[in-house]
Amino acid sequence: MKMSAKVWLIGAGPGDPELLTLKAVRALGEAEVVLIDDLVNPAVLEHCPQARVIGVGKRGGCRSTPQDFIHRLMLRYARQGKCVARLKGGDPCIFGRGSEEADWLAGHGIATEIVNGITAGLAGATQCDIPLTLRGVARGVTLVTAHTQDDSSLNWPALAQSGTTLVVYMGVAKLADIRDGLLGGGMSTDMPVAMIENASLPQQRECRSSLGAMQQDAAAFRLKSPAILVIGEVAAVAQPQLMARTA
Ligand code: SAH
Repeated sequence: MKMSAKVWLIGAGPGDPELLTLKAVRALGEAEVVLIDDLVNPAVLEHCPQARVIGVGKRGGCRSTPQDFIHRLMLRYARQGKCVARLKGGDPCIFGRGSEEADWLAGHGIATEIVNGITAGLAGATQCDIPLTLRGVARGVTLVTAHTQDDSSLNWPALAQSGTTLVVYMGVAKLADIRDGLLGGGMSTDMPVAMIENASLPQQRECRSSLGAMQQDAAAFRLKSPAILVIGEVAAVAQPQLMARTA
């Protein structure tokens, strides 16, 4: 099939519209149709006043747009020769189905270009002055989702013993499983945890806790999705140079 049109798969970042890339802004400026997920801050739409905007949110437990419908919508507009932009929260390829959508479109003769966005875990940690890696403390970082379609379990012992900072996405409803898995895998109950809700948005909230106490603390705090968990020694590290930041 002839490759005729192109769909942009754009990462809109975690929420703060200033965390958009220049490339995302350029692509939005060219778009005629924009399909927007509900984790995307609608403020970014100021960069595409010319475009027709269609909401295609899929939040767990809420009214949702089936993935197949989104695929077909992108295909229909692309085949009409329209410049289509698909806006996703954070980065399109971090728990964002970006590659699935690109593959599906490629199978239908439509090329895609993926534009990176700043993923929520990265932004959330930085907003709370937590360095995800730190010399002598954390020599790596592991991004995991607590939510799987088939309910399969993570390899908790490997995660607990990895010595890397763990950043957990979609974990708010799974705090007990995460705690039990990591404790069972040998992680200490005292391991510091930061839970960051609505990272980079004006309504951002942050709850500091420990692995053993995080479920009770999150309940008392009324932690809600979207939130990320940062689990590791870095969650308790005070960074004077970061804390001295003024803006
Ligand atoms: N592609 C996105 C992740 C989508 S999965 C990215 O790269 O960030 C959805 C999960 O991302 C949410 O359940 C939550 O864990 C996390 N998330 C997205 N936006 C967030 C935000 N502003 N603050 C905290 N967590 C967020």
